[in-house]
Amino acid sequence: MLGLMQDRQLTLTSIMQHAQRLHGEREIVSVTADQPLHRYRYRDAFARAARLAGALARLGAVAGDRIGTLAWNDYRHLEVYFATSCAGLVCHTINPRLFPGQIEFIIRDAADRWLFVDPVFVPLLAGMQDRLGSVAGFVILGPAGHAERSGLRNALDYETLLADAPPAFDWPELDERSACALCYTSGTTDNPKGVLYSHRALVLHTYGCLMADGMGIGARDVVLPVVPMFHVNAWSIPYGAAVVGAKLVMPGPRMGDGAALARLIAAEEVSVAAGVPTVWLGLLAHLRASGERLPSLRRVMIGGSACPRAIMEEFETAHGVHVHHAWGMTEMSPVGTFNSPSADFASLPEDERWRQRLSVGRPVWGVELRIVDAEGRELPWDGESFGSLMVRGPWVCAEYFRVGRGPTHTADGWFDTGDVATIDPHGYVSITDRAKDVIKSGGEWISSITLENTAVAHPAVAEAAVIGAQHPHWDERPLLCVVLRPGASATREELLAWFDGKVAKWWVPDDVLFLDELPHTATGKLSKKELRERLRHYRFPGAKCDTDRLESEGRK
Ligand code: ADP
Repeated sequence: MLGLMQDRQLTLTSIMQHAQRLHGEREIVSVTADQPLHRYRYRDAFARAARLAGALARLGAVAGDRIGTLAWNDYRHLEVYFATSCAGLVCHTINPRLFPGQIEFIIRDAADRWLFVDPVFVPLLAGMQDRLGSVAGFVILGPAGHAERSGLRNALDYETLLADAPPAFDWPELDERSACALCYTSGTTDNPKGVLYSHRALVLHTYGCLMADGMGIGARDVVLPVVPMFHVNAWSIPYGAAVVGAKLVMPGPRMGDGAALARLIAAEEVSVAAGVPTVWLGLLAHLRASGERLPSLRRVMIGGSACPRAIMEEFETAHGVHVHHAWGMTEMSPVGTFNSPSADFASLPEDERWRQRLSVGRPVWGVELRIVDAEGRELPWDGESFGSLMVRGPWVCAEYFRVGRGPTHTADGWFDTGDVATIDPHGYVSITDRAKDVIKSGGEWISSITLENTAVAHPAVAEAAVIGAQHPHWDERPLLCVVLRPGASATREELLAWFDGKVAKWWVPDDVLFLDELPHTATGKLSKKELRERLRHYRFPGAKCDTDRLESEGRK
């Protein structure tokens, strides 16, 4: 027997219309290139989104067309988000920090019809425009005057386009399964692949993220997404903030600037912020140096790569800011797990609490998880067994866009995340590694993430990466690459001794390289792929001697 309830479609349009009616007066503040700080309200944002949808229709965009963006987080980008998706078009956010060759590949693969670009990215596109056959023209996200001198064919100014558009737009009734957004994986381990989100997936994902033990954002919050809007829809914050009516603060191009972020947080009284670990390193270093405080900030959501304990401790002890660790990926819209304390957290012993805190948390309702061995057999949730982490759920990718390789999941619907993890009896997941980053030493696995977290806890270390470097005897051995904090010093021996008693002896890296900086991906994550490439000629000094040491220790 079927239920007898209304079959209303779950669409982003319903989020927009809800926010317009209920939260129209709530503010959106943006740092932009043409105006240092821009302020308006949700009401204004959606009125302009309607104009933009009308303008796109005039430009010939039809349902399903991909509209690309190369832009930082600001109000115009937000307008493009809602205008495209709610008009039945697909908002294709492109990461402008990728190599030009990758950007070209992505635009061609997506066959974008129009590209909306911040003025700063015009030169990037000018060099490749002749090879972008699907692109009818370019809209420059700024006031009148940019298009004419851009050198881009069929270029239009965003503000002129909006001013000339009809003020109202008749938003279509959309099927919740229709596509609304497209994001390519960042290609840290492979060629970028398109993940095509549906309205239904993003609405359900937004519900999941908003839960109290998730992002827990409410009407009184002021939210700062430091995670870029081209990085998996800024983890759904633009949609979630609109659902609950939180004030949105958009950092524009100032994401990596600790001082600018601190100023923005203080001036706009930001209560919740979200971003990858690297951006917080910059903010914390600035706060340490300046002695500034951020009294309004209550919570910081950190994901995208492992959050070191040192960041959590500094936020909590020095600033009273609670850190929520989360895990996910482009193929999961992106959130899979959130870390919130369990019911018995307060009664747990200190080390157990930290083990729980440092895990990536438990699956959000809607996401099922399991770990399997090489033969696909399910492994127990005992906190020890580690295997490939598989997921399924309504906001998990079923097939990549255009790749034509068929489903991305097993016959019974499980998607292999490419991560290796343990799950404890309460469901707390610890990411041991990326399958491609795990260090395979003599047939056994060493977690590079554990070693990195241990290294950054050393007072002299600002950032650390551990890769498996070739070893004549063990196949691979861990090589620690560190960037020291400004003014700090440490020797190779001191750093290696730091691991004593903290990890198994045979996990201790064989060597340390001191670098001025580590390579990062376009989303601010450590790029181990690039680091491995840079260090491909590296050989361990005295490999023989290390081999002897390991053998004498019995390797475990
Ligand atoms: P790409 O896979 O192209 O780098 P994603 O942004 O989708 O792009 O990255 C997802 C991956 O990032 C996950 O599979 C996982 O390896 C890593 N990751 C995300 N969050 C965390 C976290 N909290 N701890 C450890 N690794 C994480």
